[in-house]
Amino acid sequence: VKRLPWLALAAAAGVGLYGVWHTRSQALVRPATSGPRIVILGAGFGGMMAARELCRRGYGQKARILIVDHHNYHLFTPMLYQVAAWGLDPYNVSYAVREFAGHHGIGFRRGAVTDIDFDGHKVQLQDGEEPYDYLVIALGSTTNYFGDQAAPKHTFPIKWLEDGVAIRNWTIDRVEQASQTADAAQRQALLTFVVIGGGATGVETAAALMDLLCHVLARDYPSLDPSEARVVVVEMLDRLLGAMDQRIADMALDQLRAMGVEVWLKTKATEITGDHITTSDGRTLRTHTVMWTAGVRAPDVIGNLATEHGKGGSIKVDQYLQVVGRRGVFAVGDNASITDAKTGQPVPLLAQSAMQEGSAAGANIARQIVGEPLEPFSYHSLGDALALGRTSGVIASGPIIIGGFPGWLAWRVVHLARLTSYRDKLATVLDWSWGYLRALDTTRLQMQPAPEPATVAGAYHSD
Ligand SMILES: Cc1cc2nc3c(=O)[nH]c(=O)nc-3n(C[C@H](O)[C@H](O)[C@H](O)COP(=O)(O)OP(=O)(O)OC[C@H]3O[C@@H](n4cnc5c(N)ncnc54)[C@H](O)[C@@H]3O)c2cc1C
Repeated sequence: VKRLPWLALAAAAGVGLYGVWHTRSQALVRPATSGPRIVILGAGFGGMMAARELCRRGYGQKARILIVDHHNYHLFTPMLYQVAAWGLDPYNVSYAVREFAGHHGIGFRRGAVTDIDFDGHKVQLQDGEEPYDYLVIALGSTTNYFGDQAAPKHTFPIKWLEDGVAIRNWTIDRVEQASQTADAAQRQALLTFVVIGGGATGVETAAALMDLLCHVLARDYPSLDPSEARVVVVEMLDRLLGAMDQRIADMALDQLRAMGVEVWLKTKATEITGDHITTSDGRTLRTHTVMWTAGVRAPDVIGNLATEHGKGGSIKVDQYLQVVGRRGVFAVGDNASITDAKTGQPVPLLAQSAMQEGSAAGANIARQIVGEPLEPFSYHSLGDALALGRTSGVIASGPIIIGGFPGWLAWRVVHLARLTSYRDKLATVLDWSWGYLRALDTTRLQMQPAPEPATVAGAYHSD
């Protein structure tokens, strides 16, 4: 086990060298100027895989493909919690869409989609519009507060890169304040971190935070007692990880409790304010940090479309992933509401399903262009994976379930393989290995946005 970081570093060096060679050998390709217009909304897992599949079939040169996204990067969400928990640099989990587009002859437009005019075959953006012959809708989901008015004001979502950075900045501030506070009750409140929602993101975030607090506090904040730090998961159901196998849920619960994370099952947060939460069983917990990972729903731009909707406002699609009644328009990933023909259950909202659907939609567009029959989508679950801090994890596929350190190792290998660019893979292995060797996580810089020049100079302040 002790040699592992060195082996990882050696592997990283190999991957890095191969990556440099591979990236340099890829020529830039100019986007096509003729052919059908294929517009892909969203550069997430579904959108990127649709583009990749079309290019694999030669449509990078035969069609005018355009990706539209309001971010200019693809976000690798499964590792976002590590940005929040000071473990990874934000650049490691994001990949420039223009780099991908440039190498495949695809156009990219940074813009916010506000509406889709299905009859007029055009997409409405905040600053213009884009006509299409074929459309892939892959705009993902947004945080679901289930009508709780206080939650958006007093909790942090963990959905976008900005959220990860915001949590990191906020938690660093709370720990710094705690290190300067003589008032024990106030210090305890500053060092109490609450996660609402015991799904995969909530569980992974809680484990990573607990690990961080135990290791970093002990080492970098000599005035603080790590045993004062509390991480509490509040979950309404009687179990964690409602969407996963019960065996994984049990292992995760045991592991979290062994790490010192408090898990409050069958509990609902009934009041959330800036300095405490109250729960359905009457407990009050003083805290300044509450993270909300209780669920997702379709963003309003999807929910408001004049089409048939499924659970959470997603779009009902047929077996080919085509929006019901709209030829040439496909919805994938979190935007698609489709039943798995094998299990009769809805296809889960996961990166792996978004990727499979993206590929299948890209292939069906290619078939539609040449008049071939479309192929029905079939979902293949690759299993579940969960990281529980720096040394433990669970990975399960069919009857096989691996926990503890081997599970953690398998989780890291699987996620490294899925990271988009060689640069990200290399940087991540380096961050992990360094963190492991030094027995703490490495990325502890607070990254606040720079103040506006006018604010600095005070030039435009009338008062
Ligand atoms: C913190 C977190 C952790 C997760 N961990 C896992 C995991 O470990 N394993 C797993 O399988 N799944 C995981 N998921 C779920 C997984 O991320 C989603 O199911 C998957 O990303 C869905 O893919 P998508 O293509 O539908 O949407 P996304 O990947 O979310 O992509 C949507 C894209 O659309 C863009 N966009 C959104 N709205 C607009 C707009 N109005 N205009 C322009 N662009 C817009 C966004 O910028 C984004 O690039 C996690 C999700 C989160 C939030």
